[in-house]
Amino acid sequence: MSTSKSLRLLLSACPLPTNEARILLAHILEKHYQLPRSALLSRDDMVLNEAAAIEWESFISRRANGEPVAYILGKKGFHNIELLVAPGVLIPRPETELLVDIVLAEIAKSKQPTSVLDLGTGSGAIALAIASEASLATVIATDQSGEALAIAKHNAQLLNLSQQVEFAQGSWYEAIGQQHFDVIVSNPPYIANLDPHLTQGDLRFEPASALTDYASGLSCLAMIISGADQHLRSGGLIAVEHGFDQSEAVVELMQHAHLIDIQAHLDLAGHCRVVTGRKDPKTCQGS
Ligand code: GLN
Repeated sequence: MSTSKSLRLLLSACPLPTNEARILLAHILEKHYQLPRSALLSRDDMVLNEAAAIEWESFISRRANGEPVAYILGKKGFHNIELLVAPGVLIPRPETELLVDIVLAEIAKSKQPTSVLDLGTGSGAIALAIASEASLATVIATDQSGEALAIAKHNAQLLNLSQQVEFAQGSWYEAIGQQHFDVIVSNPPYIANLDPHLTQGDLRFEPASALTDYASGLSCLAMIISGADQHLRSGGLIAVEHGFDQSEAVVELMQHAHLIDIQAHLDLAGHCRVVTGRKDPKTCQGS
């Protein structure tokens, strides 16, 4: 048992990558001793009590078994907020922050109250990151999964954003009826059914329905894009995340949906990750 080992020895004996071991041990120090992360260095001769040592061993074996760090910690930082996460929701990814930045730029440009629809919100990451930065935004966030919505609502309460973000359950536009929005944003499941990544690494622990459409990877994107015209206000913006090799297909879907001003956006890793388009004011009938 590791109860007699100092933090320094626990870390050096840990089979996990150093950065992951440090994150997990820092979490234990915070939870059991209310110590900050810097205690990993400043108190490196400290010895864990039995409860903390048992949890440390369990964290190591869970992670060694492939469970994502975010599920072990029960939280994940995203954009400027921290979210509770659990196996019922996708773990927010840094590349998805691009979607948030695009929507925030749109809100800042319009300088007016902006209604935003986040389709398939999961933990609430996109909706809540937007609301926390943009007091001019009112957001409706949907998900088909009741389990995901419960987590998203909890996150809204913790972040004090329940006034600004409303939740609705249902599949894509079915959740919201005939309403119109200034912005539609979505990070839908876009991994193809047979993609081997689904059965490898951290993805094995995430909800399959948040990752794959159980088809070509494009079916949810197609549904969201084809419904945009009916649910956007004149000149309104749609922004969707997609896989690294789906940009051309998503641009084509937007062209077929008669959206205009279609643009592909690169993430920080240089991959085309997001496509945006707008509802053509010429096709609007009083919405
Ligand atoms: N970006 C995620 C991944 O590649 C997939 C998320 C999604 O399908 N929306 O792991």
